[in-house]
Amino acid sequence: MSGKGRLKLLIASNNEGKCREIMAALAGLGVEFVMLRDLPSLPSACEEGASYEENALEKAQHYHALTGLAALADDSGLEVEHLDGGPGVRSARFAGPTSSYAKKNEALLALLKDAPRDKRRARFVCVVVYVDAGGNSYLYRDECKGVIAQSIRGSYGFGYDPLFIPEGLDRTFGELGETIKSQISHRAKALQKARNFFLHHEVENDRHEGTIHPVCKIVRTDPSAPSVDIIAAAAESILAGELIAYPTETLYGLGANALDAASAARLVDAKRRPVGKPISVIVDSVERARSLTRKLNGVSEQLIDAFWPGPLTIVVEAAGSVPTMLTGSTGKIGVRMPGCLLARAICKRADVPLTATSANIAGRPPATTAGEIVAAFGNSLSLVLDCGKLSAEAGSTVVDVTSGAVTVIRQGAIAEERIRTVVGENALEN
Ligand code: IMP
Repeated sequence: MSGKGRLKLLIASNNEGKCREIMAALAGLGVEFVMLRDLPSLPSACEEGASYEENALEKAQHYHALTGLAALADDSGLEVEHLDGGPGVRSARFAGPTSSYAKKNEALLALLKDAPRDKRRARFVCVVVYVDAGGNSYLYRDECKGVIAQSIRGSYGFGYDPLFIPEGLDRTFGELGETIKSQISHRAKALQKARNFFLHHEVENDRHEGTIHPVCKIVRTDPSAPSVDIIAAAAESILAGELIAYPTETLYGLGANALDAASAARLVDAKRRPVGKPISVIVDSVERARSLTRKLNGVSEQLIDAFWPGPLTIVVEAAGSVPTMLTGSTGKIGVRMPGCLLARAICKRADVPLTATSANIAGRPPATTAGEIVAAFGNSLSLVLDCGKLSAEAGSTVVDVTSGAVTVIRQGAIAEERIRTVVGENALEN
């Protein structure tokens, strides 16, 4: 393998326990580790995200931006059933941000005093984010199930280790020690995925340790001046049947090849969306819109002329080539040509329409940042095009034109009044 050298990697953590485990998991790859303590004091990253994904991404990108080095961060926590998943993302701050591990463990035991054994079930969760020297981020998540012990036992490890008995064993991580923990812990498993990725992509080697696990890559990009490489990578993912998150002029969309039923099914599954609800698509040209419908009628031509590219989704009669997963068996498809250059460029390069559903789990508010997207979808996505915070107040306006008149079925970024001006009072139905 050529072109790959020794990787200099900043471990973006001040937690000695974590740093030890990270270095052990990545040992033997020829990676040169740089510790935060070895650098002149850097301002700390903010860790106030609502999810491990947001915090890990923030930490890794923060230290990469300050140093220019490839960086790896971990955000992790303990989720206890009796505490409805708490302390979770607040594990480090539980019982006070400056309290000792011993105090945190005592406080946890006190809260579980009367909890029956099945409510003492718990899991450790770990999200690792690696940012390469070029600023691309990759995300790896895993977990370790277990139960909270009745008392503090053992002195190996750190944090809640003396209280956590991994599933199938009868001793705590505090008693089991590093050899066992390094094989079965949440961090060990997430780092194994990072290690595989390094072996395939980042370091010179002639060993291949197993398969590469699905990886979510996060690339920062300017939506109005995207690089050719980013457009090509996004199109390649789409054509490989993968899911991506991309910006539009309103919100982030979840993109899949809209002509491929398997990709559409993957999308519905990732969004946990009820099957049967239609999913609209974006196109890069009026010709591509035409290819998706039996006929573009008079009012649709008028609307296209007036509002495309822009935030108007037009529901038309679907051509037979459109998967029923997208029409929701209505025989209709929502089509829009977005104002965002990047979205259109991906569509053009892949030479297929892209799904245009918003990047959120069904029923939840739309994600406005890459961190929120990866928190919701993690490795179900192969690529997130991170264009910063997109917080449009409204999504696209949706109109149905299949009757020959215009019915507004969702109010959005284009006011009904503007549509009336274009098509005339008589063509607008209520
Ligand atoms: P953060 O990721 O820096 O927010 O902190 C994670 C916190 O979760 C740690 O300070 C510990 O309290 C807890 N934690 C995470 N991973 C482990 C582990 O492997 N053993 C014990 N405690 C952990």
